[in-house]
Amino acid sequence: MTDIPQDHPRYESLLAREKVAAGVKMGITSIQGLIAQGRGESFDYLIGERSTESALYAERAAVAALLLAENPVISVNGNVAALAPDKVVSLAGVTGAKIEVNLFHRTDTRVHLIIEHLKAHGASEVLGKNPDASLELSHDRRLVSSKGIYTADVVLVPLEDGDRCEKLVEMGKTVITIDLNPMSRTSRTATISIVDNVTRALENMAKFSREMKKERKEELVKLITTYDNKMTLSEAISEIQEHLKTMVAEVEY
Ligand code: ATP
Ligand code: MG
Repeated sequence: MTDIPQDHPRYESLLAREKVAAGVKMGITSIQGLIAQGRGESFDYLIGERSTESALYAERAAVAALLLAENPVISVNGNVAALAPDKVVSLAGVTGAKIEVNLFHRTDTRVHLIIEHLKAHGASEVLGKNPDASLELSHDRRLVSSKGIYTADVVLVPLEDGDRCEKLVEMGKTVITIDLNPMSRTSRTATISIVDNVTRALENMAKFSREMKKERKEELVKLITTYDNKMTLSEAISEIQEHLKTMVAEVEY
């Protein structure tokens, strides 16, 4: 990886780019993952590279859903494995969620490498190697584990594909997505759409989980029943508009 100086004004963003590029070199991230990261970066710029109020609200609701779930599962793809393996492992640990590798550009080698990568970052068990169940989809994201995604009641699917998200919702699952694009099919279909960078979102969620674990169950239930995803998404778009207005003011100045 290129050594990025910590005082570089775009340190976080450049570091993330290096991590995804390193993921490609290691064979855990697909080459298409670079394009997905680029699209994410552009939305992050529009958002102002921060966790907005609406994102924090969705992250709290998502944590409540994970903590109350019977069989919560975190689905991991090549970009997430490259960007935040440690954060996936700590969120899984604190919420008791299982981890399952699920890939659009699936090869057995990539699945194996991602599992080993997650284990090197502290994961004990990672599902996904021998999928024994199938979703009604025509691509490889259909391949799932019967004790993982297939039977999960709550699934966290960072950087999800729109059509699998739709399928999981159809199956009656609570689907939590992390996607910087509030207009993607994924964001519009999910039960709880977190419009935030996956690195920031997973970090916030692990912190909230540690705090919210101590709360009464009724408080967590209330967070979920009062949660409004349509409002969250329109807030996310408004926050982009507000940020752009600030930028216009700065340019005019
Ligand atoms: P959909 O199929 O849901 O309409 P899409 O086709 O636009 O989505 P994909 O190419 O399937 O999207 O996946 C990339 C998505 O992931 C983009 O919406 C992008 O904004 C988002 N993304 C990429 N990198 C990150 C990141 N680091 N954090 C959060 N979201 C990201
Ligand atoms: Mg897509």
